[in-house]
Amino acid sequence: MDEFPTILKARQFVRNAGITSVPVDIERLAAATNAKIKIVHDLNDDESGQTFPLKGKHIITVNGNHREERQRFTALHEIAHIVLELPSQHHGPKLTTGALMRYGRRPQEEMLCDVFAAECLLPHEVFSKDVSDVDISMEAVKMLADKYKASVTSTGSRFAVNANEPCAFVLSEGGQIRYVSRSKFLREMNGWIEFNVPVPRGSVTHRLMQGASKTEDYDEIATVTWFNNGVRNFDLVAEEALLLKEWDQCLSLLWFDESLKPAREQREANEDDEPLLKELDGILPWPSKGRRK
Ligand SMILES: [Zn+2]
Repeated sequence: MDEFPTILKARQFVRNAGITSVPVDIERLAAATNAKIKIVHDLNDDESGQTFPLKGKHIITVNGNHREERQRFTALHEIAHIVLELPSQHHGPKLTTGALMRYGRRPQEEMLCDVFAAECLLPHEVFSKDVSDVDISMEAVKMLADKYKASVTSTGSRFAVNANEPCAFVLSEGGQIRYVSRSKFLREMNGWIEFNVPVPRGSVTHRLMQGASKTEDYDEIATVTWFNNGVRNFDLVAEEALLLKEWDQCLSLLWFDESLKPAREQREANEDDEPLLKELDGILPWPSKGRRK
């Protein structure tokens, strides 16, 4: 799945619409694509919204009974269909809540509209600064979701992409990995997570899905649990997971930092403080922010 051209289009769209502050003004984005958003209160809970033409405009209706961050996502998903000129693949003119929230067997066009929507809600230029100011944690993702009036799911997916450390965000549904986003640092380290396969045993995510009580947990586990081919220099990966029972989904943040390296290598790294030497070995360190939890 190649998201990158879609992300670039979203960034261009946000720039052209003159968006510079958050939470992003959705009305303004709608106007930029000749659409008008109407909040309605007579839709079934299972309906998120609908788009239809009226007098040369696109009218996007949004279910006003849903939470605000979901209304904003619905509107932007519909705007994405218009901007990307991707006809909706399975929800017809009506967008059901199931079609919007479920990931299993989702057509690629729909995934791309979600990616576009998330990028608009969490625009790179503003969001990347906010991400660099915080340590990686689910708590930080929730805090930013609040600030941007976006869902934790959208925020988590963009958080990993913008992270200045090796970091991945995973969405699982029904016990299967359905979506993975990764930071530039993790891609450069060839940290690859397979998707459309079962959530790996031994992961915090797997543990949470099996258990009955907890909805959130954190642990440091063997890197090969998630990364079949391992990740050079790291035997351990930090994993924090959050269960979304309503959708049979689980969100996972995975990341590496210096403290997860074996003690011997940490010592060597500390002794090797000569900046010139660091430049010579060709591997640029990412800024480590130390531990949480
Ligand atoms: Zn759609």
